[in-house]
Amino acid sequence: MRFYRVAILLLISTASVAQTQSFRLPLEIPPAFSGTFGEIRSDHFHSGVDLRTMGKVGFNVFAIEKGFVSRIKVSPVGFGKAIYIDHPNGKTSVYAHLDRFTGKIAEYAENAQYQKPSFEIELFPNPGELPVNKGDIIAISGNSGSSGGPHLHLEIRETVSQHILDPFEFFNEWRQTDIYPPVINRLLVFEIDSLSYLLNSLTYKAYETIKRGSDFTLPFPVNASGKVGLALYYYDTVNPNSFRAGIKKAEMKINGIKTFTFQVDKFSFLETRYANGFNGITDNGWSGYKAIRLWTYPNNKFSGITHVIDHGIIDVAKDSTYIVDIRVWDHSGNSSKLTFKILGVENKAIAERMPNLPLFKWNAENTYKTRSYMVRLPENALFHDILFQMSESQPDNFPYPIVTVHNSKTKLFKKFTLEYNTSNIAENLLGKLYIAKINGKGFTYVGSEPAKNSIKAICNSFGKYTVMIDTIAPSIIAQNLIPNAKITSQSSISFKLIDNTGIKTYNGYIDGKWVLFEWDPKTGILLHNLNPKRTKRGQWHSLKIVVTDMLNNNSEYSTKFYW
Ligand SMILES: [Zn+2]
Repeated sequence: MRFYRVAILLLISTASVAQTQSFRLPLEIPPAFSGTFGEIRSDHFHSGVDLRTMGKVGFNVFAIEKGFVSRIKVSPVGFGKAIYIDHPNGKTSVYAHLDRFTGKIAEYAENAQYQKPSFEIELFPNPGELPVNKGDIIAISGNSGSSGGPHLHLEIRETVSQHILDPFEFFNEWRQTDIYPPVINRLLVFEIDSLSYLLNSLTYKAYETIKRGSDFTLPFPVNASGKVGLALYYYDTVNPNSFRAGIKKAEMKINGIKTFTFQVDKFSFLETRYANGFNGITDNGWSGYKAIRLWTYPNNKFSGITHVIDHGIIDVAKDSTYIVDIRVWDHSGNSSKLTFKILGVENKAIAERMPNLPLFKWNAENTYKTRSYMVRLPENALFHDILFQMSESQPDNFPYPIVTVHNSKTKLFKKFTLEYNTSNIAENLLGKLYIAKINGKGFTYVGSEPAKNSIKAICNSFGKYTVMIDTIAPSIIAQNLIPNAKITSQSSISFKLIDNTGIKTYNGYIDGKWVLFEWDPKTGILLHNLNPKRTKRGQWHSLKIVVTDMLNNNSEYSTKFYW
């Protein structure tokens, strides 16, 4: 009898494993990760896994299951070149930052690019158009779009909702080789009282953990008073070839009661900016460690935060003891525990005077004006109420005033509008003015949308902004082309484009006809692959490149070449 029960249990468990094991690996090199699902990044939760490709482009990318190509996207930013495949089991796999597509997919995409004509395309093929079998080579791995180095970004989505799922749930091989639980390195204790909270200038104390057996603890209890919030510095290892990765779940219990749970199983793109509700007050990149905060703000409605009591904030009373039990899980189910005590001590805080600053409510629209700038924050832009600070100055070496919009440590859920009053600006300059973000010593173009007596920009983050003028057209520098030369041995033509605001349009023409030039803003390279199907061999051709920048300053380059 007993034997039968064991046999049935085994059958059930292999059945459920078999179901999740149906996907094959997308690469044929040993799995190594530079990012995992749900990692907290600037403005988003990481929506897939980043598979390392030995620091180079050029590996075959395989369809993980049969299905059909449901979407193809080519963009100089974001995912770069990306393929979406819908599978019969209701899941969609996404392969991003590809170097190039292969076979029928490549042909289909290029035809659409010439038809539009544009390098940037987004296509939604019908189910019958581009069927794929499990294991088909669909593309070559790359570094396209906003990628920080060669890798394959792989995503698994629920086809109907386009909600993003944890790819580790679908590849047993990754989980089975992961025997490394997360390492909890440090505990941070934030003192949350009303004024420093409203000013976003929370201070914290850091405690190094010690390892006892397989768990972590602190060498002594934490003394605290009043409201405190906790955070961890940690990292997780998937396997020795991988970089330090994030976790899947964190749970905190105070005196045995769950007061905070963070878990990323599935999320929608609409909530991805809730990641900013975890950013800002801890330095996420500290010495290669990751940070996870175990308390939250009123406007952080991320679906992965559950079991929250008092936003995860602990109100420490004098002479009371709190047993804190924190557990974190990686994507393969390995977990680590940190346990320690908080002792309530006398609150020595001195009453601070409320500064004379406007109180911005997170659930209201807020506006503020200085002499020449105005900000407008939509409802729910903030994660919590803040005492807002904004000031304007005119340094000698700047053509227009600098405005400091609050504090770059305060992260936003929604973007805000910044307007600059142009009523005193000469008419001939109006179309050449733009709002720039000041990053250290550099400037980044943000926007130049004309409005009534002003220009405006949609801004992603608080910080320093100014207004600049751009009347300089982009530079077009030939990389492998001497004017009027024979280039019969070449397979491509490339140019370097340089501009201070950024390239808005880029078009190339051979013998008067539009040809596909690929644009990569990371490297500043504009590249055309010569193709005998489109350009005749053994004759002279005319070439023209037309480029505009964000302020519509226009440059052209023309020559002849023999190929
Ligand atoms: Zn990625």
